Order: sequence, then C-alpha cells, then structure tokens
Amino acid sequence: MYSAFRDIRQALFENRLTCVDLVKYYLQNIENQADLNVFLSVYAEEALAQAHLIDQKIQNQTAGRLAGMVIGLKDVICYQNHPLQGGSKILNGFVSQFSATVVERLLAEDAIIIGRQNCDEFAMGSSNENSAFGVVRNAADKNRVPGGSSGGSAVAVQANMCLASLGSDTGGSVRQPAAFCGLVGLKPTYSRISRYGLVAYASSFDCIGIITQNVEDNALLLEIIAGGDAFDSTVSFRAVPKYSQSLNFSQKPKIAYLREAVESAGLSEAVRVHTRQKLDFLRQAGYVVEAVDFPLIKYILPTYYILTTAEASSNLARFDGVRYGYRSPQAQDLRNMYVRSRQEGFGAEVQRRIMLGTFVLSADYYDAYYTKAQKVRRLIQEATNEIFKKYDFLVMPTTPRTAFEIGALTGDPIQMYLEDLFTVQANLVGKPAISIPNGVDEKGLPIGFQIMADSFQEADLLAFANYLAQ
Ligand code: GLN
Repeated sequence: MYSAFRDIRQALFENRLTCVDLVKYYLQNIENQADLNVFLSVYAEEALAQAHLIDQKIQNQTAGRLAGMVIGLKDVICYQNHPLQGGSKILNGFVSQFSATVVERLLAEDAIIIGRQNCDEFAMGSSNENSAFGVVRNAADKNRVPGGSSGGSAVAVQANMCLASLGSDTGGSVRQPAAFCGLVGLKPTYSRISRYGLVAYASSFDCIGIITQNVEDNALLLEIIAGGDAFDSTVSFRAVPKYSQSLNFSQKPKIAYLREAVESAGLSEAVRVHTRQKLDFLRQAGYVVEAVDFPLIKYILPTYYILTTAEASSNLARFDGVRYGYRSPQAQDLRNMYVRSRQEGFGAEVQRRIMLGTFVLSADYYDAYYTKAQKVRRLIQEATNEIFKKYDFLVMPTTPRTAFEIGALTGDPIQMYLEDLFTVQANLVGKPAISIPNGVDEKGLPIGFQIMADSFQEADLLAFANYLAQ
C-alpha cells in the first residue's frame, strides 16, 4: 500500500482513499501480525472515530497538515487518559494525566494515534528484550531482535502497522532499531523537541525521535513537533525551519568519517563493505571525504553508562509503589513496601542500572566516577566540536552489525552495551544524528548508515540524508 505520506495525501484529496479505510488497513496489519508483539494497546475505535472526523474535515477543506498520518507512540510518551507503562510492570494500571507536548502538536494537525508500542523497560536496552511485555520480533526475520529500545516503534513502521512512530533516543534507541528494520530514524539536537510528557531515563541525554519510511515524512514531523514549550525549561526556543520544504541538497559539504568506526575490527563484513561503498560513492560524486581520528572513542561507552545510570537512579526514584503503579501485595511495613514493590516491579536490567547509578553517585565514589565522567563528557564534546569546525557531517555505520538473534546477547550485558558504540556519541554531545537505510547483508537484514551534524543543523542533515537515501 502506501509508504509515503505524500502519496497518502494525494489519494485522500483526490477521493481515492479515506482515512477510515487507511486506519482499517493498519488495524488489519496489527491484527494479522500480532506475533511480532508490537502494540501494547491499540486504540481501534478511537482511531476510527477520529478518521471519520478527519474525512469530513478533508471534504470541508479544514484538515490539518497531518490529516492522513497514522502514528504510534512508544510506551514512554504520555497521551492523556491512555495507559502508559514505560514497558514496565512497576507502572501497572497507570493512566496518563496529560498529553506530552509532541502529542498535542500531532493532534492539533489532525494526526491519528493508533496505539502504544512495546519497548525496553524505561528505554534501557538495545534489543527490546528488556520489556515486561516480552520481546518484539523483527519483521525481516522473526528470530531476530528489532533493536531497542524503540523496537516496537520501528517494527510498527517496518510492518505497515502505522506510517510513523515517535520513540525516544537516549543513546541510540531510535537510530539503532531504525537501522535494524531498514527505516529512517532521527534523533534531533538535544532540546530541539520538548521532553514534556516523556518518561525520563537520563534527562541530559533524552530526546524524542522520529521513525519513518523516508526522510521527507521525518522532516515534516520534526517541523511540527519541534520548538519552544513553556512546560520544558530545557527546550530551545530557536525558530523551527520548514525542514520538509528544504530537502533539495545543492551544496557540496565536507564529510568526515570516524576512522576508528569504519576500520573497527568489530564491524561485520557486510557493514564494512556497505559503509565503504557509501563513502566511495560520495568521493565519486565529488565530495571531500576524509578520515578523522577520535582517540576518545574508548571512553564514550564508559562515560555514557556512568552518567546515564546516575541520572536514571535519580529519575526512577519516584516509582515507589506509594502513589501509583505496582505495589507489592506482600508488603509488611513501609520500608518493606518500598523494597518489595521496587524489587518485584522493576526488571533485572533496570535494577542493575539503578544500583550502578546509585553507586557512582554515592558520597565515597562521586568524584571518582560521576565528576570524572562529566569531565570526560566535556572532552568528548570539545573533540567533536573540533570535527565540526572543519566538516559539515560526520558519518559512520549506525551499528557494528545487523540484527542479532533473540537471546544471543542477553547473558552478556557488556556485549549488549557495545552495540551502542556508534550511536551514543551524538547523545553525549547533544548533536543531531540520523540513520538511513544502506542496503542489506547476505541474509537480507537491513544495514544502517548514520550521519551526524552540528547542533541545530537539522535542515542540512535532513537534506543530505534525503539525497543519500535516494
Ligand atoms: N541502548 C542504550 C541503553 O540501553 C540506549 C537506550 C536509549 O537510547 N534509550 O542505554
């Protein structure tokens, strides 16, 4: 059926399609592919009712810019009067009291929200195997992971259960699943999109991100959800360009690639070959393409995991079984109620990170770990800024290899953390990065190519990605 919003709009406005039919089509796909375990809630009746209203608006010529856009939300984005659990048992029964700013902006332009998508618990993970609701399966090979933590959001788009998804990206959670599922995944500049109504994992890293089939749809959604918001004190009030209208790329940018990433021994053969081909293509097209060294690469993951676990231990302290969510039925006294509720409510990976974060923030170790990691973050930022003084884009594969088999890495957290090696840099430094499809490996599994740009250069980033993706 349709994979581009442009085609859907045309069909709607030429009366060849109705929003009701469109929603029915997605609902059918959700039902037929329930084994992929993508949706935690499907808002079928509501979406159909909304579709009916929007069909009328189209007839009356009062429809918003997203009329015909059917969207899914990762289970970390609040939608008023709808369930929200962050993929966790600890939020059992929780219903959002308000909508995230991004949701308000989508609805104001007549988008239709079709449901809530499975994800790693509190967005901690790289494979969607950490969800309290079970693993999500990659539609390209059901024995393989979709990536994480926005795995449900990626497979929903991959398997035509909605046209686009909003996820969250703290260390790659939008780009890595997009890469594993053959999609476009954008993490914008930190603060470009309001975080109001996003369940916090690591607040100085968290970004809402967008997963789509193509760059144009991604640009349109960014244009609509980005920008100032009185409810988020960290959000940027810079003007939001019309990203979707500046997608024709005419400049000849200078491109750097990370030597350590492209030449890394950890890359699979297919990822290495496809990445090289992309670089060769750019050289032949007359671009300056140069290798840069980034000796700090070995500190990227330790810095990320110290700082994000510290922030997570603080952010997740609010889930205590007192005011909402899961409370242990076995509790005997107040202290025991906290302990049991958190022990029974959080999964193993979340508990590991809370403990690690609490440790690095503890009085005796604060300077040795937390303060030091903050300093290293600054060094990584400065080194990355140096690259952007000379180059417009920094490129590398999105992931060292393609989607792995379910269960392959669950026993080895370090190996799992290494999956994020190329994506976390953008979050440490707050810069925008996008993953676009870059062919498939010998098993037919999608490969991702990542492009990072300087802060607030999303317009150029999207235009360049659009050029490269075509
Ligand atoms: N996989 C990374 C982690 O587990 C990134 C997660 C994310 O971006 N939310 O922290």
